Amino acid sequence: MTKSRVLVIEDNEQNMCLVSFILEKNGCEVLQARNGLDGVKMAVENEPDLILLDIQLPVMDGYSVARAIRKEPTLKNTPMVAVTSYAMPGDRDQAMQAGCTGYIEKPIDPETFMSQVEHFTKGEERDNP
Ligand code: MN
Repeated sequence: MTKSRVLVIEDNEQNMCLVSFILEKNGCEVLQARNGLDGVKMAVENEPDLILLDIQLPVMDGYSVARAIRKEPTLKNTPMVAVTSYAMPGDRDQAMQAGCTGYIEKPIDPETFMSQVEHFTKGEERDNP
């Protein structure tokens, strides 16, 4: 991945640290939001190249965040990957329907996380709902 600005929306400090560490190690600039509402605000203000989105978030859950972000004309096509421990079969579909480009399950694997993220950010693989 070339030097990208990545917005991480995550309320769990341990996950935030790990994800930020991996991204920065791979040359990304990391922006951090710790609740859903701040996440939407920061996405609008900063127009990141990529958004990593936890689903279980305070103030505003990840599905609502995804829908709000997709309503913004400047963020319509921004790659947005749900990173979540919700391992229920319907959650992937729900995340995709809310506008996410991809879905990564927690716990994340530091060895493969970057390639998983890149898989969802390459090209125009996103299906518009
Ligand atoms: Mn969470």
